[in-house]
Amino acid sequence: MTIDKRALLRGGLTATAALAARANGATAAKAKASDELSASAEHSRDTHVLAAAADDFGHIIHKQPRAVLKAASVADIADLMRWAGGRGLKVAARGQGHSTYGRAMTEDGIVLDMSTMSTIHHVQSDRIIVDAGATWSAVLNATLAHGLTPPVLTNYLELSVGGTLAIGGIGGTTFRHGMQTDNVLELNVVTGDGRELTCSENSNPDLFDAIRAGLGQCGIVTRASLRLVQAPDRVRRFHVFYPDLRALTADQRIVLADGRFDYLQGAVLPDGAGAWRYQLEGVVFYDSYAAPKNTAVLSGLSDDRSTAAITDLTYHEDVNAFAQFENLLRSNGQWFNPHPWLLTFLRDSNAEQVASDILDDLTNEDIGPFGRITYYPMFTKPLRTPLVRLPNESIVFPFNLVRIPESNDVAKVEQMVAKNRALYDRIRGTGGVQYPVGAFPMSSDEWKDHFGSKWTFLQEAKRRYDPLGTLTPGYNVYRD
Ligand SMILES: Cc1cc2nc3c(=O)[nH]c(=O)nc-3n(C[C@H](O)[C@H](O)[C@H](O)COP(=O)(O)OP(=O)(O)OC[C@H]3O[C@@H](n4cnc5c(N)ncnc54)[C@H](O)[C@@H]3O)c2cc1C
Repeated sequence: MTIDKRALLRGGLTATAALAARANGATAAKAKASDELSASAEHSRDTHVLAAAADDFGHIIHKQPRAVLKAASVADIADLMRWAGGRGLKVAARGQGHSTYGRAMTEDGIVLDMSTMSTIHHVQSDRIIVDAGATWSAVLNATLAHGLTPPVLTNYLELSVGGTLAIGGIGGTTFRHGMQTDNVLELNVVTGDGRELTCSENSNPDLFDAIRAGLGQCGIVTRASLRLVQAPDRVRRFHVFYPDLRALTADQRIVLADGRFDYLQGAVLPDGAGAWRYQLEGVVFYDSYAAPKNTAVLSGLSDDRSTAAITDLTYHEDVNAFAQFENLLRSNGQWFNPHPWLLTFLRDSNAEQVASDILDDLTNEDIGPFGRITYYPMFTKPLRTPLVRLPNESIVFPFNLVRIPESNDVAKVEQMVAKNRALYDRIRGTGGVQYPVGAFPMSSDEWKDHFGSKWTFLQEAKRRYDPLGTLTPGYNVYRD
């Protein structure tokens, strides 16, 4: 569906113009009174669309938009931005809605559903050009047909390109290749004031830097040119376990320094009996004719070798492994429960102490039987995206509470959100930084603190590209 431009010029969005207005009586009356959205019988079919846009993977925050626009063309998005700006309405792009705290929502504004703009345009030897609503799984399927891959993939591939570029996009190869935002060659953007611009390191570099990891504050990414590298044929994945955090951390440092793994992560896992399991997860990429030797890969490590789990898969099977986990969580219902996650980076110099102190205060129930606490070191040198905030050290530790509660008990979830808030304050106090996909409220002043030396840059870019403050209110970066 496309926007009816004449209706836009009249200042009216009609039912047939692809915007679904609220359907029930009171809300429809408000919509009619306050603006031009009409609530015809046709709209009743779209209450599900509005309800879906008022929810996300977190299932904690619910904000009902006035309308949902399915993005059909760049010109339509530009029209929408000018139209909404002129009426003081907020706009939030929505990729796959996997935020955990309403970041793609807007109360009584317009949600721009980007999932309909997902064309894969070209694959070349060094890049792929895609619409921003494409998922990383679609990107990967297209590139693997040419033996190529993006250098960094998120663990879960059903996230949109635009959605991860808005925050960073971290994966097990980030210690070597940076974030997904570090592997973007060019972006097509509709700015908050409705201009269609292209940006890269050399063209409109200020916009390029404001968009990548800029929390959707300055523009909507419509198309991206993404760097590609040769895909490995196969991977061997090693899960090895340790008796405590100290032993895990020591070996993580060794393998990070010597570079034996091509992918490195790690986690503290609930053991189901109230204690924790400490896991290092390393992957070796290889071509089928040169398989690694397991004893050589694991040499010098102090893990409990009797519990090691080693899998050998094609690259495609391996990067899609999360899909099986998703199926499991969908079948046991936990995919649909609230997900009050907390994602942070700890300083290398105190990571073990901070993580250990926090673990002392957490129970298995706080994380859930299928949840995990991500914990592993990575180099910061390859991370060059200005708005990706990290502690100022050469190594940092992602430390993430990936909570997957067994129930949807509202009171418990509220407690977890409050605990996230307290833990964030504690981590901030030790020099840590958040990865901005966590579930807890942030004030504008706290975002100022988060962006630190880059705050002025973001402020100026906001003034230049979204002067009316139309875009992406869900983070509360700027006061309404
Ligand atoms: C199961 C799961 C696993 C995850 N694993 C990882 C991981 O390994 N690494 C990692 O980095 N993150 C991970 N995440 C977090 C995830 O990357 C972010 O929540 C991401 O923003 C979600 O992408 P999305 O397409 O669902 O975005 P949405 O939730 O739809 O949107 C997220 C934000 O991006 C904005 N946005 C969306 N599209 C655009 C666009 N085209 N232009 C501008 N702004 C836009 C939205 O307005 C919103 O503010 C995971 C999340 C889940 C649920």
